[in-house]
Amino acid sequence: SFLIAGVVLGSRVLAQDIDPEVTVEKHHYQSDIARLRNIVINRHLISNANDALEKLRLTSLTNRDVWDGTSPLNITIKTFPAEDGSGGRIVITDNGIGMTPEEMTKNLGTLAKSGTAEFLAQAEGGPESGSNGNLIGAFGLGFYSSFLVADKVYVASVPAKTSDIPNPQQYIFSSSSDDNDFSTYPDPRGNTLERGTEITLVLKPDALEYLDHHTIIELINKHSVFSSSFPLYLYQQQ
Ligand code: ADP
Repeated sequence: SFLIAGVVLGSRVLAQDIDPEVTVEKHHYQSDIARLRNIVINRHLISNANDALEKLRLTSLTNRDVWDGTSPLNITIKTFPAEDGSGGRIVITDNGIGMTPEEMTKNLGTLAKSGTAEFLAQAEGGPESGSNGNLIGAFGLGFYSSFLVADKVYVASVPAKTSDIPNPQQYIFSSSSDDNDFSTYPDPRGNTLERGTEITLVLKPDALEYLDHHTIIELINKHSVFSSSFPLYLYQQQ
């Protein structure tokens, strides 16, 4: 009966039948999208960087190879204005625990597998299943939601040195908003990071406000959800 209903509706209902005949009050998604975008930049990317630093610090308590205990741990945010032929960019770097290419694939590339299935199961379960919680953060949608602000994302990462991996190589995980694929490959620039992760967001043309340092500082101050912060530096490319 579902199919029959589909045929009937398909033949009778035209788009213009549904459109209003008079001008109606319009509502827009803007404020919610703006809030989501703020969460992406702040809660996700910066708190992921913070987590990576915290993980390095904790790991170093039992494994001195990963960090000497004194060299500075920090997060930097660099902004690059849009130029002809290249979108504006935000680059968020931490010198935390880093990821191997296998970890990048597993952590950042599994949305379509477990992430979505779990997300949907949770969402369909109703309020008692906790679907009012932080859905964006809960199932690894975090990284994928970068595409709310970016057309293209490059993650460069080098895991901390251990006896198992004495000479880790820097790899790139890259993905675009317009396809469902991602690529991993050795960074053509070589090892530019001593250790840690660098996330480059090539911003959508309508998200260039995030290049503004006042906006970034306001976001960090307003929405900060992490308490044990490491120093965060903000640089502007002239
Ligand atoms: P979530 O943060 O909700 O787990 P993400 O998709 O943002 O989802 O990140 C998935 C995983 O990728 C994280 O749990 C972490 O293991 C890894 N990850 C993300 N960012 C970093 C980073 N800057 N350094 C090291 N690992 C990271």
